Formats: sequence, structure tokens, C-alpha cells
Amino acid sequence: MKYLSVVVNPAEPCAGCHGRCCVEHRVNVDGFDVVRLVRARGAAWDEIVELERVDHPLYLGFRLDAGAAHWLMYLRREANGACRFLVGPDDALRCGVYAARPGACRVYPAALDDGRAFFSAHAICPAERAAAWAARLAAGDATARDDEAARRLYAHALARWDGAVLRGPRRVDDFVRWIGEVLDAVGVFPALDDEAAMVVAQVRIDGVSFP
Ligand code: SF4
Ligand code: SF4
Repeated sequence: MKYLSVVVNPAEPCAGCHGRCCVEHRVNVDGFDVVRLVRARGAAWDEIVELERVDHPLYLGFRLDAGAAHWLMYLRREANGACRFLVGPDDALRCGVYAARPGACRVYPAALDDGRAFFSAHAICPAERAAAWAARLAAGDATARDDEAARRLYAHALARWDGAVLRGPRRVDDFVRWIGEVLDAVGVFPALDDEAAMVVAQVRIDGVSFP
């Protein structure tokens, strides 16, 4: 695929970029993301993601039993590396699950540090688009902060889940069903700065029973 120099719209740095990031990245997702995609597509979780085993605790990893294994979930990809949900002709590629796209995709190419979003050093945007993104993020963008709130609540849920499976093994199906119930219990995700609402969300998560 060839990337031509184009006039970039500062308000929409991605427009006309052909979704390069959706082809070259392997996207790590959390359980909330998977549940949203399962519901949006009417598909089974294993049509949405593939699992990778790591033998140590890792961000977004979950256990299924008391052993060393933790499991990470990645969006399934086509043979050329493209995300399975990338659709359209080469010159007009777009996300086929835009409304339900994972948090990593909503936030990209931003990273969050000390509460402020900035252009990630790992992003692969073409230079002219990187500049537009950097300017846009420097002007303020709440998306990454909203995602951070969801990730903290997900981490809270995972701590409960991982504790429970030490008392008896569960299957991935159980995990996806349970994290779906957690998602429903939380309802509308609070803003990161709303500490009272974050506590309420955590209490709701704690009220979800195990499968
Ligand atoms: S995030 Fe970057 S690489 Fe991805 S479509 Fe937008 S400009 Fe292109
Ligand atoms: S879910 Fe959409 S935005 Fe995310 S990698 Fe796939 S096609 Fe791209």
C-alpha cells in the first residue's frame, strides 16, 4: 500500500489515511471491549479475539485458574495483518465497528501521562498527520481520560475475578459472561475526576456475583 502526501484536515487528522494503524498494529483489548463487540456483531467472543498466554501478571491479563497463566485478548486479524473489522476498498478503508470499537482504538494515537493526553511516541501516523494529532491533543482531548476511568474500573473488576478463580477454575465463556454483567452493572462510566461516582461504580462491580 502506498501513502501519498495529502492535505490534512486538522479537525480530522485520520481522514484519508487508509487506516494504516488498523493494519500494522495488533490490538490488545479488555473484556469490556469484547462484550461490546460481541453484542454489536452478534458473534461469539472467539470470533472477535484470540487469546495469548503469558505466565506472569500483566496489564489487562486475567486468570482462569490458580496456575501461572494469565490471558490477554487481541482483536483477530486477517492474513495481511489487518484487523478483521477493517472494511472497504484500499483507498477508503474504515472501521466496520466504529460505534463499538475498543478503547485502544478510540484513544489512538494518544497516550496519557499525569492526566494529560499527548501524541504517543509509539504511534505510526504519517508525519503530517502526526503533527495534526499532536496539535489537537495539546489543545485538550478528554477521550484518553475517559478511557483511563474505564480501565481503572476494569482493573478493579479483574482483581475480583482473579481472586475468585483461585477458589475454582472458570472458562473464558464464564469470564466474558461475567464481565458483561459487570459492564451492565456499571452502566454509564463516570469521569475520571468524579471520585464519588468512581466509588459507586466500584461498589456496583463488587455486587456482581460469580458464575
Ligand atoms: S490514527 Fe494515525 S495512522 Fe491511524 S488512521 Fe489516524 S492518522 Fe492514520
Ligand atoms: S476495531 Fe476498528 S479502529 Fe480498531 S483496529 Fe479494528 S478496524 Fe481499526
